[in-house]
Amino acid sequence: MSKTADTPMMQHYAEVKRQFPDAILFYRVGDFFEMFGDDAVQASKELEITLTSRDKGQTALAGVPHHSASSYISRLVAKGFKVAICDQVEDPKLAKGLVKREVTRVITPGVTIDEDLLALRDRALLVGVTSGDGRYGLSAVDFSTGEFRATELETEDALREELLRIDPAEIVVPGAGDKPRDKLLADAVRRWMPKLTLRIVLPVTEPLEQALARHGGENAEVHLPPAAAGAREAAQTVLAYLEETQRGVRMPHLRRVDFYALDDALLIDPSTKRNLEILRNLQDGKRAGSLFDVLDRTQTAMGSRRIRMWLDYPLIDRESVEARLSAVDELRTKGFDRDELRAALKAVPDLERMNGRIVMGNATPRDLALLRDGLAVLPGVRERLHRFESPLLRALAERLDLLDDVLTVFRQALVDSPPLTQREGGIVRDGFRPDLDELRILSRDGKGAIAKMEAEEKSRTGITSLKVGYNKVFGYYLEITNTNKHLVPDDYIRKQTLTNAERYITPALKEWEQKVLHAEERQCELEYQVFLDLRAHAAVQSERLERTAASIATLDALASLAQVAEEGRYVRPRMVDTPVMRVKQARHPVVERNSRERFVPNDVLLDADDRQLLLITGPNMAGKSTYMRTAALLVIMAQIGSFVPADEAEIGIVDRLFTRVGASDNLMAGQSTFMVEMTETSHILRTATSRSLIVLDEIGRGTSTFDGISIAWAVAEYIHDRLGARTLFATHYHELADLPLTKPRVHNATVEVREWNDEVIFLRRIIDGAASHSYGIQCGRLAGLPGEVVERAREVLTNLERDELNEVGLPKLARSRKNPPVPSAQLGLFAPPAPPASVPSVVEERLAALDVNQLTPIEALNKLAELKKMLE
Ligand code: ADP
Ligand code: MG
Repeated sequence: MSKTADTPMMQHYAEVKRQFPDAILFYRVGDFFEMFGDDAVQASKELEITLTSRDKGQTALAGVPHHSASSYISRLVAKGFKVAICDQVEDPKLAKGLVKREVTRVITPGVTIDEDLLALRDRALLVGVTSGDGRYGLSAVDFSTGEFRATELETEDALREELLRIDPAEIVVPGAGDKPRDKLLADAVRRWMPKLTLRIVLPVTEPLEQALARHGGENAEVHLPPAAAGAREAAQTVLAYLEETQRGVRMPHLRRVDFYALDDALLIDPSTKRNLEILRNLQDGKRAGSLFDVLDRTQTAMGSRRIRMWLDYPLIDRESVEARLSAVDELRTKGFDRDELRAALKAVPDLERMNGRIVMGNATPRDLALLRDGLAVLPGVRERLHRFESPLLRALAERLDLLDDVLTVFRQALVDSPPLTQREGGIVRDGFRPDLDELRILSRDGKGAIAKMEAEEKSRTGITSLKVGYNKVFGYYLEITNTNKHLVPDDYIRKQTLTNAERYITPALKEWEQKVLHAEERQCELEYQVFLDLRAHAAVQSERLERTAASIATLDALASLAQVAEEGRYVRPRMVDTPVMRVKQARHPVVERNSRERFVPNDVLLDADDRQLLLITGPNMAGKSTYMRTAALLVIMAQIGSFVPADEAEIGIVDRLFTRVGASDNLMAGQSTFMVEMTETSHILRTATSRSLIVLDEIGRGTSTFDGISIAWAVAEYIHDRLGARTLFATHYHELADLPLTKPRVHNATVEVREWNDEVIFLRRIIDGAASHSYGIQCGRLAGLPGEVVERAREVLTNLERDELNEVGLPKLARSRKNPPVPSAQLGLFAPPAPPASVPSVVEERLAALDVNQLTPIEALNKLAELKKMLE
């Protein structure tokens, strides 16, 4: 910084900036927040505000008016920046020398209760990650609601998956200064989440219970298993970072930390989630066209977040699934009551975030009125909820605390629509506080007296244009234009001269002014006090508010699922613990809504006996991928407690769901390398269990045909022999249709097509059997390849296909060291085409085995007929 920058203020600035090197520092100067140096350059670029300079161009400078600062701050934070607010903490008028300034808040993407910012995403989670003993700890907090949880992970893979699942707004790791304690971990996180800035903080040193009590008070609860040291440390890291950003302000909504175990949920890896378009569509990453979008018919933001949470962690415990399903079932059946319930829910504000704002002291008078109006509808919600009997809904009704004590006070105290401002009055209802009413009368009377005085002075002086005015500097005054100056009486005291008027005061006027201003001031002050009391009153009840909010969220989510089930004609799935899936006429929940052609439903049949792996062959665009996605989506839906789009469904609980979409089908740019495909496939083969569901769509496509077929073949065999997982396996390599010859639990299916007038018509129906060919050549002909090329291609194909079988008529691909050729006696089962001439045919073998001397003429004739038939 330049020489002249060394004013006391700039020295102070530099000192503060040193403490927040990684933040953009908003420094209050007069009515502006100024940024200097690099901060100014960066902010001017990001916010498109003017960059100027001071000290003869030596220091860059940019500023925003303090009253509109929050929108600029939001925009910077939304872009991932951290913003430190250095504000004046004393009244500049009273300050001696340099006005005292302090950093009062640090705002970051993961630590915000700013409505505008939060509106940009459904939620903003701050996540802490730690490592130790080859394990990982993770903790996530939603600062806007106070939800705080932690878990442990065994592998780096699992950590990565969980981070992608949470999709945090900000991540923090333990360390000091800019040095992370575990550099490898920090680098890995940076690699996985390149868009986020990794924060580094020293975890709080005292036990988590003690640290949390600083905020949640004596009711603070830590529900982490004693052995979960990683989860604990992750929570300590998150807490330290929160404390750093809040600059010593208490965070009473951080009251409990809960443990969650990933084993308790149906785990869906990130690429599966993306491929299945669970939360976003693949085209533009928006919510439209996702499963979430179909299922979310909630009436409140809380309910919507709840569905999102359910989709992140579907259940695997059958009883819990059934509990939700029963609730949804009842809500669906009782349509009238559901409608009324949903209508009532619509009026409930976001109580979870409201609670956050209340306890953090950020709720405005308007927020309190919103809370009041929200509480007022709860009795209606509960009354309607009481019409339902399923245990889960009963439990929700039980937990729904109406907070009628709070409501009563708020009703008495708050005016109908109070302002956003807190110190300018207009908040408290008449009749709530006698002392406040008195002040109001006083100030009203005073104003009346002043108005009366104006009339009296007019008649006394004869100046008809005389008027009483008010400004902040002089208070009330009498204004008289210059033309009437000569009429001014002696007792007027001149206060101010304007171009064409003079302003005067009188002792009587000042006397009334004292009364009015004093009364008004005290009135505002009193209203502010009442407001603070009301807010504190609500804050004390935050635990109850939280419980009610949670109960409303779940209720809203269940009612939404019921609404979707009703409108979409979904059925309740029968959940079982055996590894089966039997669905009649399944439909894809998203495609059935959006596709232009009529959706063709299909059965899904998987079991452990002869249909463990369904091998689906068929041409491109036939409907293979859609079919498999349908099956996967139905499982997810069922396990969050939703009904499913089908005529009938029996679904064995799935512990893990995997999908792998082959290179050419993967729409995500940059993801389409063969290596990624193989990495994901190996991940599946290493982690799937006999209770998992695997969807493999065109694997092995990103390499040469022979490589591709070989890999696909080997993978299918491995799943069949080793994993036993229910699997849907689509491939355009029709060669794989030979797998069932050696693998009894592989079943062939294909998509029915009709060839008609040189055209291929897709019937979208999945049927037993294999595609006879790939239709590639046909497609080429339709595309206009010269006839000669098409003909020659056919010839080459025939040549290639001729050698597909081995000497005993089995597909050559099936041969292995472990699977020696199957004896020829079983051949009849498979009706092979004519084997090569060097090997005796079945008929020849039978002939050779005949003992002609033992046959009667009739027997001989019969044998002859039989052999002839075999030849046909
Ligand atoms: P494949 O994977 O065999 O190439 P897709 O599953 O991608 O085929 O489907 C191709 C197109 O057909 C998609 O646009 C899809 O919307 C439509 N489709 C697929 N299955 C059905 C169905 N059962 N009913 C109606 N349309 C379908
Ligand atoms: Mg496909």
